[in-house]
Amino acid sequence: MTGGGQHTKDFHFPALVNGLDFLVSAVDSLSGDNGQPGPRDVKYAVLHLQAAVETLLKARLEMHSPELVWTKVGAFDQRKHEAGDFSSCSVKKALERLHDTVQIESTIDPEEDSLKQLGNLRNRIMHFGWKDTVVAVQARTIPVLDLLVSFVNTDVLPHVDQPAEAWSAEQQMEQVRAGFKHLTDFIALRMQGVRGQLEGYEHATAACRSCGQFAVVLDGGAHDLACLLCGKQYGTGEEAAWEFIGASKHVSIKDGGGDLDGCGTCGAYAVIRTPLAYSPEEDTWLCFGCGSSFEGVCAFCGQATDLAPRMEDMCSDCYEIRLDNF
Ligand SMILES: [Zn+2]
Ligand SMILES: [Zn+2]
Ligand SMILES: [Zn+2]
Repeated sequence: MTGGGQHTKDFHFPALVNGLDFLVSAVDSLSGDNGQPGPRDVKYAVLHLQAAVETLLKARLEMHSPELVWTKVGAFDQRKHEAGDFSSCSVKKALERLHDTVQIESTIDPEEDSLKQLGNLRNRIMHFGWKDTVVAVQARTIPVLDLLVSFVNTDVLPHVDQPAEAWSAEQQMEQVRAGFKHLTDFIALRMQGVRGQLEGYEHATAACRSCGQFAVVLDGGAHDLACLLCGKQYGTGEEAAWEFIGASKHVSIKDGGGDLDGCGTCGAYAVIRTPLAYSPEEDTWLCFGCGSSFEGVCAFCGQATDLAPRMEDMCSDCYEIRLDNF
């Protein structure tokens, strides 16, 4: 690397190398190449991965035009920029500018869920202490790594014009690709190990809040619920349903928010909408108490059940009572 910074052209280099360095560090710790990582390795891996996301997206903005990294583009000042004396834009804003102004090829949604989940994970680590298992975090990071690796391949590397920079970036990416492969193989192997317990239960298997994999089987209330992949414990079906919506029964009832919807099959107040292994792209009404799924919740009796034919919000029982009354 040559010093200076006289030319705007030199500017993208430190940001890119820096971003790739965060990425290499995160993947090295997560991959398990040097044995299964410990909690401390994984903690720093998450922080470094979040830093890699921010730095690499902004490195691409910087390569296009340095003021795009600023929150207020119009306030750009080269001297302050070099001193780092400015507030830089959010990840969401960076993605919007990458699409609208830089016109990158990668199609990364600014509302991308895996990036949000990574941000949440980072916040939990920073502020609330960390309860996820190592394997849960490893699984959670895969979609983010996947997205970053293809972004760098498609939209960053081809735009690095100095051969020395291109060469060193390519060396770093070699390390990242090898580590990423190791990590995905490891998680695939773990999923393979529990496949036998998941098969045939696709209609009653939810995605774990902790590791993101479809590995929480609602077995009809025989046992407390747990994730088969990462081991996260959810307690009873009712407790699990509250945890899935990210709320607390105690707080909700105290604040007048009421209980969850009731199940027309088992009577538990544990019905929420969540994707199932069977239909991962859409939400299904599901009872965490007994594992039954439903078409909807009756607006009249408040029970989750199959609705009366051609009715959007009324169950067959309520429909018949209505008919009898007329
Ligand atoms: Zn899990
Ligand atoms: Zn039920
Ligand atoms: Zn009803």
